Amino acid sequence: MIEYIDIRLPIEEEANFSKSKEIASDKFGIPLNRIYGTKLIKRSIDARSKRIIVQLRFQVFIDEPVQEYKDTLSLTILPSNAKVVHIIGAGPAGLFAALQLIEKGIKPILFERGKDVRQRRRDLAKLNREGIVNPESNYCFGEGGAGTYSDGKLYTRSKKRGDVNYILSVLRQFGADESIEIEAHPHIGTNKLPNIIVTIREAIIHAGGEVHFGSKLTDLLIEKNKLVEIEINNSEKHEIDNLILATGHSARDIFELLHQKNIAIEAKPFALGVRVEHSQELINKVQYHNNNNELLPPASYKLVTQVENHGVYSFCMCPGGIIAPCATDNGEIVTNGWSPSRRNNPYANSGIVVEVNAEDWQKFGKDNPLAALELQREVEKKAFAANNRGDKGQIAPAQRLKDFTEGKLSEDLPKCSYQPGLKTSRLDEILPKQIAIKLQKAFIDFGKKMRGYLTNDAIIVGVESRTSSPVKIPRDPIDLNHTQIKNLYPCGEGAGYAGGIVSAAIDGVKIADTISLKPY
Ligand SMILES: Cc1cc2nc3c(=O)[nH]c(=O)nc-3n(C[C@H](O)[C@H](O)[C@H](O)COP(=O)(O)OP(=O)(O)OC[C@H]3O[C@@H](n4cnc5c(N)ncnc54)[C@H](O)[C@@H]3O)c2cc1C
Repeated sequence: MIEYIDIRLPIEEEANFSKSKEIASDKFGIPLNRIYGTKLIKRSIDARSKRIIVQLRFQVFIDEPVQEYKDTLSLTILPSNAKVVHIIGAGPAGLFAALQLIEKGIKPILFERGKDVRQRRRDLAKLNREGIVNPESNYCFGEGGAGTYSDGKLYTRSKKRGDVNYILSVLRQFGADESIEIEAHPHIGTNKLPNIIVTIREAIIHAGGEVHFGSKLTDLLIEKNKLVEIEINNSEKHEIDNLILATGHSARDIFELLHQKNIAIEAKPFALGVRVEHSQELINKVQYHNNNNELLPPASYKLVTQVENHGVYSFCMCPGGIIAPCATDNGEIVTNGWSPSRRNNPYANSGIVVEVNAEDWQKFGKDNPLAALELQREVEKKAFAANNRGDKGQIAPAQRLKDFTEGKLSEDLPKCSYQPGLKTSRLDEILPKQIAIKLQKAFIDFGKKMRGYLTNDAIIVGVESRTSSPVKIPRDPIDLNHTQIKNLYPCGEGAGYAGGIVSAAIDGVKIADTISLKPY
């Protein structure tokens, strides 16, 4: 029999806590010798008051042995005559779709435009050092997708806990720490994610699947509302039974290709703003009420407000993190953030973004499905043009936070984690006016909610524009195929069905399950 107990402890007492069996024995009135053991399954920190508490949930094994973690996937070797499904994109959506197809006895053939994680790392080093973007290998493109060199936060707004737990257990099977299944706010970290991704790729290949890098989808052949053939790298042709399109929010060429082929896509609301960076010390002080207990992890925060009927909120907050240049082409500037597993950098960064909808992109055409993308592109180009010459460079516009709210050019800038370089700029003039005004008001509000947040020691760097896809690829709600093309499966964040690593992975699994039920 398995029961549960919940325990609250001051954080200082956690390390030496060993009384879970005794507490369970008291609670259930069962002698200690019938309790074979307990297992910690959930942990969260309650820092709402100065006395910081940890909340622990244990499974209690009564009259039966403690259940250890088991592998979730079996991944048996595929038979040589297994059915084939093609996948474009090796992000979380594409990789989890591939794993799930193998579970269902189907062979995945995966094409990824970028490089494997090791080679990709070299391109990122060059990007940070020289400010040169490789359009096929960057923070968004390459093995593991946009999530590989990220903070690896694994929390999601997805309501189905079962689906979330499934993804976490698969990540654990491929090398993530067991704590991701326990912590209320699990994260993996940039230093650990690449190895997990490699292990997933090796498992796919070992089972008989295929993974091809440097393989970009460049064309689609459609006949009678059916996808017949794809073209890779403008040359190789492949016949298709079913195609999972999991190309992420930055594959602009794919959105343009679909539009050019008259395959329906829609402009989609996204969010636009800046990345703000404070010292981690300041965020710890505010969030932990000046309690500097070293047992506490680097603090995070979540902020949200409404300004003129638009939501303004913190996005992808990275405690102990680094601001990264996330453009996918030269001639544009895009920010995002990452953290190592220990989150031990002295900076705390977060996107602060404003919801953008049809009224904001109407100048690009009311019925233009690429209008939201055009707005996104325009702002990124403007951020580039403010500071860079020619078509290269990743010098980002930056401003002290209070100066931004007051519409002032900063005379100088504080230290910042963004490596390719910064130039003092008026971000309120680079962003569309209606977005900048809402951001200014939101920062003033956040300064009231978190004392010390609105300070000129903090810096904002622009622009945070790839928060989610500016395009939706519509699909049938039941069959999950494209509304016009029965064997094309839009999947993950780029298609508009996910927002983050876990939800993209969930969508990949869902699509693979649906295809596996389809008669061939
Ligand atoms: C720096 C950074 C930090 C982030 N931090 C977090 C975080 O902490 N937690 C979180 O949940 N989310 C985070 N995200 C967002 C998260 O990475 C994405 O939500 C997630 O990766 C989306 O998964 P996906 O598989 O749908 O698409 P993607 O991960 O974008 O993968 C799409 C893949 O398709 C490939 N591709 C594109 N076009 C083609 C083509 N024509 N042919 C072949 N291949 C193609 C791309 O190279 C890419 O590898 C972060 C993103 C970035 C950039």
